[in-house]
Order: sequence, then structure tokens, then C-alpha cells
Amino acid sequence: MLLLARYVLPVSAPHIEDGGVLVEDGAIAAVGRRDDLVAAYPAEEVRDFGQAALMPGFVDLHTHLEYSVFRGVVNDLPYARWKMQVMSKEAALADEDWRVSALIGAMETVRSGITSIADITNSGACLEHVAAAGLRGVVYREVSTMSKREVPAVMESALADVDSWQSHVDPGLVTIGIAPHSPYSCHPALFRAVADSVSDSRLPVALHLAGSREEFEFVKYGSSPLGQEYRDRSGWADVAWLPTGVSPVRYVYQWGILDAPRVLAVHCVHLDDGDVEILSKSGVAVAYCARCNLKLGMGIAPLEDMLDRGIVVGIGTDSPASNSTIDFFDEMRIGLLVRRGVVGGASFYPSERFIRMATLDGARALGIDHLVGSLDVGKRADVIAIDLSRSHQLPTQDPYSAIVHTTNQEDVVMTMIDGVVRFDRGTYPTLDTEGLSDRIESIEYKLRTDS
Ligand SMILES: [Zn+2]
Repeated sequence: MLLLARYVLPVSAPHIEDGGVLVEDGAIAAVGRRDDLVAAYPAEEVRDFGQAALMPGFVDLHTHLEYSVFRGVVNDLPYARWKMQVMSKEAALADEDWRVSALIGAMETVRSGITSIADITNSGACLEHVAAAGLRGVVYREVSTMSKREVPAVMESALADVDSWQSHVDPGLVTIGIAPHSPYSCHPALFRAVADSVSDSRLPVALHLAGSREEFEFVKYGSSPLGQEYRDRSGWADVAWLPTGVSPVRYVYQWGILDAPRVLAVHCVHLDDGDVEILSKSGVAVAYCARCNLKLGMGIAPLEDMLDRGIVVGIGTDSPASNSTIDFFDEMRIGLLVRRGVVGGASFYPSERFIRMATLDGARALGIDHLVGSLDVGKRADVIAIDLSRSHQLPTQDPYSAIVHTTNQEDVVMTMIDGVVRFDRGTYPTLDTEGLSDRIESIEYKLRTDS
């Protein structure tokens, strides 16, 4: 299959005008000028997207597909209040509801041109639709407990799930990892146990870290809505907590979790210079979730400090529960604009830099950049086509700027993963979406009426 378009953005090399990408056996077989490719492969089936851009699929470095049905359910609350409201509604959903929720998440993910994800899940409800949508990436089994005595049982159950889930996914596409939820929901012994368990297996690790003001105050000063009230709701009412006097990053660092081989830290908003240094020397990758952080009043991450120290930073959406949509273009645009506003000046972050964060850097963060993240011969064919012909995009001179500043997920026309088309002009060839709106309506009713 020969894909053609007005622009081809390999990300690893300058963009090509009037270019094309040859896909053979699920891999990228050639990238170049349209005329050259058409002449060299005259018998090849051609898809010409016209005034469009072909580029590598996006890497959503932080999501929870199974929470998609919480879109718009809890609104206009700061992080800790939002978190506890969401928790109070979770019990209303049956297993099948969580799977339906993950289905709409998977749909929006490929609709938005995302081909790789870093998904954190309690239940594994996302796995069925991650597979059906052909998504690539890491699915992390979440663990949490503030009760030290529960740690062995929590770990045993989690590691059994990791093995079982890994046997149910395509290992060429998906790796199962483990995710100690956060500093306010994990006992130090749990961080230690996760660090010990992954040191040999090299299981990928993800954790929410230094995300909200409430988390920072809880860890350092011992009090915030994430203190006793959160533990009461979580069944850990008898667990004592004392202020640690240090930042969330320093706190978890002492328990060894940041020394694990493949760590992804999510949010990383409340960092001082010492924290950035710890993340840098530990080789931790970071998911920058700018829109969620703004929506829940969590703060603004010090992106340039992290990049200056050589930290690999990609972009995450954090699911519609906190972010309302998985639109990756909004994510790039807002993530870029908020930093320009904070730093001053408009030249610090060219659009091209953010497109690299959204693709190749995200792939590096997951350790899959040898497979995807750029359009290079030999890499797997995770390719998206973005229409640039609509009135809100014309005229287009710089495709990077057009993609970041004028484009929305409705402009994605094709999403291909591993050479298979997973989204094609409004259709989802491999997802069963029949009766979906009725199923969503019944879930929405449960979420509206319960607590
Ligand atoms: Zn999250």
C-alpha cells in the first residue's frame, strides 16, 4: 500500500512536500517524494489523501481508557474533591460497564490519531478493546494500599494479573507493567515491594507523582483532603500518617521506586530543582498532562526545566474522566501555549518540538522508539493521515504549525497501526460498536443517580 499526501512528516527528518509512505507487511518499506515512489512502485495500490499530512501516530503517555464514561460526570472541582467524587461513583458500575467505557476510550483514541498508549487500569477492563483496536504500548496493572499488612496480598494478586494479562495480549504490541498509584495511596512498603519485584523482570513501572497541590501538602505537611478523608473513603481509616517534610519526588525516591529500570512518572507538576535532578539522574521519563493539570487546578509543570536536564518527556491525556476528551491536538496546543505564556516569548517551543514530544519522545519514554515514533524504513507502520483541507486550516504553509494550532481530532481521516487500518473516515473496522449509545445511556443513568 502506497500512502500519498501533500505533506509527509517523518519526525526524525525534515518534512517532505508531495510525499509518500510505502507500507509492506506491517512495516514502513519506503519514505520519499511522491513522484519517485509512484515511479518505483507502479503496481502498488495507492491511497492518496490529497491536502493532508502523513505522520507517525501519537503516543498517549498517560490514559485510563476504562474511565472514559466518566466524561463530564464530575465537573468544576479541584483535584482532591474531583478524585473523591469519582471514587464515590465507581461502585455503581458493573464489570461490563467498565468494558463499554474502555470501548469508547479506545474509539476516541484511534479517532484522535493515537497509536500507542500507556494505560493504567485496576481491573484489566481495557484489555479486550485495546486488543480489538490493535493499540500498541504498555498497560500497567495498578496497585495501591496505605496499609502495610496488606502489601503482600496486593503484590501477589497484582503479579498474578500481570502474568495472566500478558498471556492474553499480543506481546508484539502490548507489554503489561505495574503502577503503584501515587504517594498518597501507597505505603512505603508497597513502593519497595514493586521496586524489588521489577529489578530483575524489568517490568515497566508507572506512578502518578507530584501532580496536585493537595498531594504535595499531604506528603510534605501531612494534611490535605488527601489525608484522613481520603483514607477513610479508601478503607484505611486506621492508618496513621505523619508529615514527611520533603517533596513527593524525594519521598518516593527514598523507597527505591525511581531506581527501577523503566519508570514513567505522570504529571510531575510540583517540582523544585532538586526534584528535577533526581528524576534526571534516575532516568525517569515523564508524562506531561497539561490540559488535565489545568482543568483540575493542579498547576503547570516546569517543562523546560525537565527538558534542559535531558529528561524524556512525552504527552498524556489522563482520560476523559479528568480531561473531557482524548483530543491529542488540544493536548499539544494547550501544552505548548501554557508554557509560552509562563516562560514568555513564542519562540521557545516551536510546534515541531511538540510534535516530536507527541510521537518519538513518547515512544522513547515507553522504550519502543526502535519500533515506532517516526516514519523510518524498517519501523512498524503506525501511520496517521490528517486532513488539512478544511476552512479552519487553509491556507497551510507550515504543516507542523497547522497540526498543532489549527487541527482537531475530527480532522484525522485514517489511523493505521502495525499496517492495519483501525480508523478510516469515521469508521472503526475492527471494533464492535453496535448498540453503543444505548449501553452508554444506561451507564450514564447509573452515574447520575448513584451518590
Ligand atoms: Zn492518571
